[in-house]
Formats: sequence, C-alpha cells, structure tokens
Amino acid sequence: MTTHMGQSAFEASVVEPESATGARYCVFYGRELLLDFQSREPCLLDGGAIRFLAPEPVTRLFLGYWQGTPCYAVELDRESPLEAPQLTQGSLYHLLGRVDDALFALAGNAQQLLAWARDNRFCGRCGETMDYHTSERARTCAPCEMSIYPSIAPCIITLVSRGEELLLARNANFPGEMFSTLAGFIEVGESVEDCLRREVKEEVGVDVGEMRYFGSQPWPFPNQLMLGFFAEYSGGDIVCEDEEIAEAHWFRPDDLPTIPPRHSIAGQLIRHHVALHEGRPV
Ligand SMILES: [Zn+2]
Repeated sequence: MTTHMGQSAFEASVVEPESATGARYCVFYGRELLLDFQSREPCLLDGGAIRFLAPEPVTRLFLGYWQGTPCYAVELDRESPLEAPQLTQGSLYHLLGRVDDALFALAGNAQQLLAWARDNRFCGRCGETMDYHTSERARTCAPCEMSIYPSIAPCIITLVSRGEELLLARNANFPGEMFSTLAGFIEVGESVEDCLRREVKEEVGVDVGEMRYFGSQPWPFPNQLMLGFFAEYSGGDIVCEDEEIAEAHWFRPDDLPTIPPRHSIAGQLIRHHVALHEGRPV
C-alpha cells in the first residue's frame, strides 16, 4: 500500500506539555498558510520565526508531537498587517506534492482543527461559549453538556475497470484536460458499497459488480476522507451526468490521457491498475 505512508512521524495529542520549548508551529494568517521555503519543513515554523509576527493569535491549538517535538496550530488575526517578508502565504494546495505525505497530513490536520475551533465557538443548542475538553479533541458546553467533535466527510473514490481498460472522466467544474477516477460523498444512512454503485451510475451511467478496497487518504479540502476502491464494470453504456462530468471514456493502459499526480489517491489507483496489467511490481 502506498497511500499515506510515514504517518507515524506524527503522534496526535490534546494534552499540552508543560514546556513549549523547541515547539514547532503550523501558522495560518486568516485562511492562508505561512510557509518558509528556506526550510525542509516549510509549514512548520519554529518559535523564533513566529515570535515577532505582529498579529496576535486568535486560536492556538496543541496538535501533538511531530517527530517527538511539540507542535501547535496557530491562527493569526487577518485584520492585523503581517510583517514577515521571509514567509510565503499560500493555501494548502501549495504544499501538495512538495512535502512528504505525513507533513502534508499534519498541515491539513492543523487547517481542519482551526476551522472546527472557529466554527464552534458557541454551542449550537443553547448559544453558550464552548470550552475545550481537557483530554479529548472536543469542544464542550458546560450548561447543556453538548460536545462537538471535529467532523470528517467520508467519500468513495473508485477506478472502474473492464479487463485492462479504465473508465476515466473529465470533471466539468475543473479546468484543464485531466481525466480522473469517480468520486462522491457518502450520504447519511448509506453504506460505502451502495454509495459507490450510486455514484458510478449517476456520474457515468454504468453498473459495477465486484469491488475491492485499495486504501484511504485524508483530503483536507475541506475535510474529506477518501476511501479508494477498484470496481469492475458489469453493464451499461457511458452516459455522463451533464453538470458534473464533461466527458468519460474507456482508456487502454498504454494510451492514457493526462491523469492526476501520484500523491493523490486517484493517481495511485490508476498507476496501480496500469502496473498490474503491465506485469510490473506495484
Ligand atoms: Zn449548550
């Protein structure tokens, strides 16, 4: 399995150490990530680098330990000017493919937890201010005892195949000529398998039979967990859903269009299938 290797570099925890000496910080200025491309780990700033950043942190969350070092997510007030010419401001997309999977996952984790903290300052049931739970990743409301945990949105992502051929689609809402696998959100009350069959049928009109789990990938845009599957075609002709799919075709492994990069699970599903059919190690 190639997905999400190296995750062991990070150990999540909500219990802050007594001393933050040597701590590293994943810093967002509003929604923009601050990056130091002089560093091997551009999204992890040290205490010295952030001490003189003018805006006060609006949120500071302990994330856990990155390679044994305490690590925090920090959101700075976007209303205050930022004086840090050595730092680049960028979205998480700037990091994709430029750092290893574990470090990218850590930055994604930081962004999602800051968004969760920002969106749950007040109790949705009674309106009181929410506190942080001392030992769990949760915000709690003392008066009504409600707890809110960070939410993730599970999605299926699937490569449909017919023998060696792959069914790939071009999304109507993304620019460029890239063809990719099919994906969709799992709905309330739906099984993973039912979701996969429904999404494939809705998006390209075909039926699938056998499905095989491949692996998963957190995808923090904004909070998906992608569950990757291979699925075998079992019938029907390609009929694209107009709003979402611009075009979809069967492709042979030796005649592929532009496909997603290998750091995405879509790219990995496609390369895995191709390698299998070419008899190469995967
Ligand atoms: Zn409440």
